[in-house]
Amino acid sequence: MTPAPILIIGGGFAGLAAGVDLAEQGKKVLLLERRNFLGGRAYSFTDKVTGDTIDNGQHLMMGCYHHTLAFLKKVGSSHNVKFQPNPRVDFLSEADGHASFACPSLPAPLHLLAGLSRLKTIGWADRLKALRVGLALRTMNGNRARLADITVREWLNELGQSEKIQRRFWDLIALATLNELPEIASADMFARVLDQAFMHAKQDSTMVISRVGLSDLYTQDAVKFIEARGGEVQLNASVKSIDFENNRAVGVTLSNGEQLPAAAIISAVPYFMLKEMLAPELLATHFPAVAAFKSAPIVSINLWYETPVTDLEFVSLLDSPIEWVFNKNAIADESQPRRQHLALVISGAHQTATQPKDALIALAHAEMKRFFPKARLQQPVHAYVVKEQQATISHTVGTARKRPAQKTPFANFFLAGDWTATGLPATIEGAVWSGQECARLIV
Ligand SMILES: Cc1cc2nc3c(=O)[nH]c(=O)nc-3n(C[C@H](O)[C@H](O)[C@H](O)COP(=O)(O)OP(=O)(O)OC[C@H]3O[C@@H](n4cnc5c(N)ncnc54)[C@H](O)[C@@H]3O)c2cc1C
Repeated sequence: MTPAPILIIGGGFAGLAAGVDLAEQGKKVLLLERRNFLGGRAYSFTDKVTGDTIDNGQHLMMGCYHHTLAFLKKVGSSHNVKFQPNPRVDFLSEADGHASFACPSLPAPLHLLAGLSRLKTIGWADRLKALRVGLALRTMNGNRARLADITVREWLNELGQSEKIQRRFWDLIALATLNELPEIASADMFARVLDQAFMHAKQDSTMVISRVGLSDLYTQDAVKFIEARGGEVQLNASVKSIDFENNRAVGVTLSNGEQLPAAAIISAVPYFMLKEMLAPELLATHFPAVAAFKSAPIVSINLWYETPVTDLEFVSLLDSPIEWVFNKNAIADESQPRRQHLALVISGAHQTATQPKDALIALAHAEMKRFFPKARLQQPVHAYVVKEQQATISHTVGTARKRPAQKTPFANFFLAGDWTATGLPATIEGAVWSGQECARLIV
């Protein structure tokens, strides 16, 4: 009899990171993915009209994504990401024009101070007040318990941050990193992000971006890595139930009725799928908090223009419903783009995600005309909208305490995924770390 494999349910960043580390340690792995492609909430596909690659939503990483960067290196995909030489974020305001939050080569957190001092979309008084946030992070010494009970907005108000700097700086960072509105997002999670991204090494603050479509960034290379070490990845394998006997996970039943035995099981699916796979009494007894999570949407609007409208690689729009514009041609280092492909992002999009796609495209083009004069003389030649209704968990106050650990009450059953207790917001880095942590616990 061949020994039962370790089953990993879910082929997103978390499942693949777990599979890679287990395969590396010589463990027999079988990864099961419900869909006919891998990548979960971070994937790409080919647009039928233009032939261009579209991500399900533009993803940004940072230098502080240490586990993700190590994972990409391990599977041989590091060359597909590019690092900013120095941390830099561009802002565009209709009234004040272009400004950069550009951090020079100074040790952290001096690089941040210098970056802020140059940000001309915010007045001097506000820039000075922003230092209070850095000071609060420095003096907190990791003791953020109190922040778990207040919102980002309450914390920033406490720290004397004006309405203007909140709207034009902090809110954009909070939305981009937490995918939730500052009025309801947890201050604790925000403090964690700011600490990780800005208070340590300067390289941690740089943006890291994939030159290629998200699926091409990591899925095939991870599969190759797993298969080269005797593991297996099965697509179109939808797990209906995780089966337990005598307090142990014994295997899974697929939706086609097939039963697969397991030596151990890692669930690497989102919370709303885990709910479907566990018996209600088991869920209520051992994972009661799972029922309490809610999701936050992200809307992405892809626009194509015949004549390029901007050279900037990515830019945040101030006082606009569109938070970020990504220039896909510049990101892919195309020297002579045929046409310009822009990917526009709206995070924490509870309202926007309810609007019809045509209305979103009209809104997006109107905003491009407002910020980029070259868009005023043309219509987009093509548009494609992706609404991810369940992009991430909603990081409301109190949510962090409910996130379950990777280790469960069952000795051979583990939980991975960006929504588990990672200490980070629901991001690629959290997902990868959780998968690697499950692998470590098993080994
Ligand atoms: C539009 C958008 C933009 C984002 N931007 C960023 C960003 O800029 N930076 C960042 O760090 N993060 C970003 N994120 C978050 C990031 O994508 C997620 O944190 C990460 O992809 C989660 O990975 P995961 O492996 O935990 O879960 P998932 O990617 O959801 O993977 C779970 C997998 O399990 C499979 N599955 C589900 N049910 C079953 C079943 N019953 N049987 C078998 N398989 C099953 C699913 O099909 C899926 O492939 C963004 C997310 C979205 C949607």
